[in-house]
Amino acid sequence: MSIPSLKNLENIHIQNFQDDLIQWFKKSHRQLPWRINRDPYRIWVSEIMLQQTKVDTVIPYFEKFMKSFPTIEAFAEANEDTVLKAWEGLGYYSRVRNLNTAAKEVVNIHAGKVPHTLDVLLQLKGIGPYTAGAILSIAYGVPAPAVDGNVMRVLSRILIIPDDIAKPATRKIFETAVKQLISHEDPSAFNQGLMELGALICTPTSPACLLCPVRVHCHAYHQGIEMQLPVKSKKKQPKKVQLIAGILRNEEGKILIRKRENEGLLANLWEFPNCERPNQYMPSHFILTDYLENTHKIVSLVQPSKLTEVKHVFTHLIWNVHVHVGELKNAVEETTHLKLVSEDEIAAYAFPVAHQKMWDSYIEMKTKVEKS
Ligand code: SF4
Repeated sequence: MSIPSLKNLENIHIQNFQDDLIQWFKKSHRQLPWRINRDPYRIWVSEIMLQQTKVDTVIPYFEKFMKSFPTIEAFAEANEDTVLKAWEGLGYYSRVRNLNTAAKEVVNIHAGKVPHTLDVLLQLKGIGPYTAGAILSIAYGVPAPAVDGNVMRVLSRILIIPDDIAKPATRKIFETAVKQLISHEDPSAFNQGLMELGALICTPTSPACLLCPVRVHCHAYHQGIEMQLPVKSKKKQPKKVQLIAGILRNEEGKILIRKRENEGLLANLWEFPNCERPNQYMPSHFILTDYLENTHKIVSLVQPSKLTEVKHVFTHLIWNVHVHVGELKNAVEETTHLKLVSEDEIAAYAFPVAHQKMWDSYIEMKTKVEKS
């Protein structure tokens, strides 16, 4: 074996390992909506949704998505606003933008058939080695590795692989391991078995080794070091950003919303106007008033008391948003990126989660006032 980290591969009875894993998967797997058939489009969408999002959160989104876009052709035809609305709340919106771009390419260049070879799949936007491996193995029965964080954790324990799984280069080591281990008779059940094992049994902080179907093959378990694996270096702390946002009404009761830039974080989603709070000494409602005037030529009366404070954690960033309500004092010139909408119309626009929370607080406050 040329990779020293994989020396324990020589001590695994591969056929028995495959049998134990696959039999357990067939008996114990969860019934999930993307498992009802082998449609590559459904599998692709599910894998993209499952990146950085938990299964329980994904299920209702997936079902709604498939109702709205039952075929790749229906999804490819959808415009960006509709697509973002379907993804609203799932976060990491570049995932769905890339998915839509790639779906258009599949329809236009590949006659609507999701490619079944690694190199062609990898050319599609948003498809990396993991997603390609998942589509190939689950939809097409190709023995390709599909290595994500779950799989790295499981195999780092079974084979005692000491490499840092936070480093991108480490994935290759695990792919080499899977290539050796994968069943050629049933690569779909094998890959899904590894993923399912990581999700249900070999969990990050409390692996249920006594229930584990592959315990007999697990080197870390036999040495009592499963809790020391995987090796994963700590990420940088996310940067904290203080923001001030305003829910601003004109005299007809319409609310001011704007579209974010078409690049970068939460691109093209709608939001309530907001700006950074440069220091904590100047009252936030003054900062927002100044900002609105300078940026949008909007004269407003922002109430000094805060409506609420909303915290939202991204991978690299933490937003702490001080939310105020206010009134617009002059006419607003609407553009494609700045609109006045009625409260009922708000639901038609896709907002980031933090702004959905602000809106919920606003409606709650308004309902209370109306009742009192
Ligand atoms: S025996 Fe324990 S550590 Fe090893 S694969 Fe199973 S659950 Fe994970």
